[in-house]
Amino acid sequence: MSDTANDYQGVATMDKISSLAKRRGFIFQSSEIYGGQSGAWDYGPLGIELKNRIMGFWWKEMTQLHDDIVGLDAAILMHSRVWEASGHVENFTDPLVDCKKCKSRFRADQIPEENLSAKKCPDCGGELTDVRKFNLMFKSHIGAIEDEANIVYLRPETAQGIYVNYKNIIQSNRMKIPFGIAQVGKAFRNEIVTKNFIFRSREFEQMEMQFFVKPGTDEEWFNEWKKRRWAFYEKLGVKMDHLRWHQHGPDELAHYARDAYDIQYLFPMGWNELEGIHNRTDYDLSRHSEFSGKDLQYIDQETNERYIPFIVETSAGLTRTLLMLLCDAYDEEKVVSENKPGSSEGTASGTFGSAGASGSADDWRTVLRFHPAIAPITVAVLPLMKKDGLAELAEEIRNELKEDFATDYDQGGAIGRRYRRQDEAGTPFCVTIDYESKDKGSVTLRFRDSMEQVRVNRAELAERLRKEIKGDQRIK
Ligand code: ATP
Repeated sequence: MSDTANDYQGVATMDKISSLAKRRGFIFQSSEIYGGQSGAWDYGPLGIELKNRIMGFWWKEMTQLHDDIVGLDAAILMHSRVWEASGHVENFTDPLVDCKKCKSRFRADQIPEENLSAKKCPDCGGELTDVRKFNLMFKSHIGAIEDEANIVYLRPETAQGIYVNYKNIIQSNRMKIPFGIAQVGKAFRNEIVTKNFIFRSREFEQMEMQFFVKPGTDEEWFNEWKKRRWAFYEKLGVKMDHLRWHQHGPDELAHYARDAYDIQYLFPMGWNELEGIHNRTDYDLSRHSEFSGKDLQYIDQETNERYIPFIVETSAGLTRTLLMLLCDAYDEEKVVSENKPGSSEGTASGTFGSAGASGSADDWRTVLRFHPAIAPITVAVLPLMKKDGLAELAEEIRNELKEDFATDYDQGGAIGRRYRRQDEAGTPFCVTIDYESKDKGSVTLRFRDSMEQVRVNRAELAERLRKEIKGDQRIK
């Protein structure tokens, strides 16, 4: 749900974000050479690195830092009864209307109320059809015969894979309530309208954690997980004034939920959902118990109590988080002067505006200010010149750093242009190799955000980078 008023005041727009994402190899339209497949996206070299980094950050936060949460990777294709039990076959629908004149299609809950009641198209004023329910699940068939008996759905959420494995995990890993199961994976929804770049896609990824608790303690755990998920974004270093809570009203609450809050982010197009935290009660396990005929009660070994656990879910979009981070990190800045690498005093004299490049384009820079722990490239190694052995030395230094950091190497063009390319990729550190590096074994370390440059001994470089990443003030 988004507000009609848009509080966004930043410099990013979805057009700027999508063109930067394409230019730098973060995200491409799926099947572009055939005219594109709408609602599907390909993640390029920087995109997949960023996605992996976000996933790793979340995974560490949700599993490694919690003794009571374990991971799972369930299959995308599940028994079709799963989706009957979960209520998706019956209820996973969006209200759809079409314009009879311009043929535009809308989600009825996303157009102004007055258009809906007057049956008037918000685009052309033409007549709208009646509202129909549209099921968002993609359907296919297993095997050669296409009949009702072998229907299979592409999962519209990862959560159900967790519920159907809950008993397996208790037995194999001796988990005791309260405990959680975390999973990251693809989900598919045949969304009626996809716009705003990757925000609402038909194929996307989710990072979900289902926390199983004793009935009666669910509210307490629900509040605890609200706190923890808020803290996650603080740790990720995003603009906290761009985040807010939105509680689901009675008409928004899913059929299974007792309480639900979204964390919304202020995207360039306005406030929109980033993650949902839901108290799903015992609905899921009760239904799977009923439909499968299997007893899914938990038995407390100490008290001999038996009960169906309640579930508190935290459900974030991985690809939507990636979009949020691109918007959050995006900045444009006028550069008055930037020091030329090479001075042994730490900060160098002179500017490289001239050394770097031509014209006024270089007076402005576009920069992605990612937290260094999630930037796709952590450190770029740049020889000032290709000649006199500087390129070879730079390659050698890059090879030293490779084992511990995501590195890039760039020897093409003026140094100023190379810095700008790394700024656009969000690389927090550049290491420049110059004549002093050859003679005295020191390099220039340049910081993306401040553009400050310092000289560092080659032998101390890796340790210094580690300290800078860990000490980034955004990590608490
Ligand atoms: P909406 O009402 O906007 O369609 P939802 O409330 O049904 O979405 P959930 O089912 O709660 O969404 O999904 C959990 C999370 O998965 C969302 O917060 C979002 O980050 C992500 N997500 C859901 N649908 C999509 C999509 N089509 N594309 C990308 N991410 C999505």
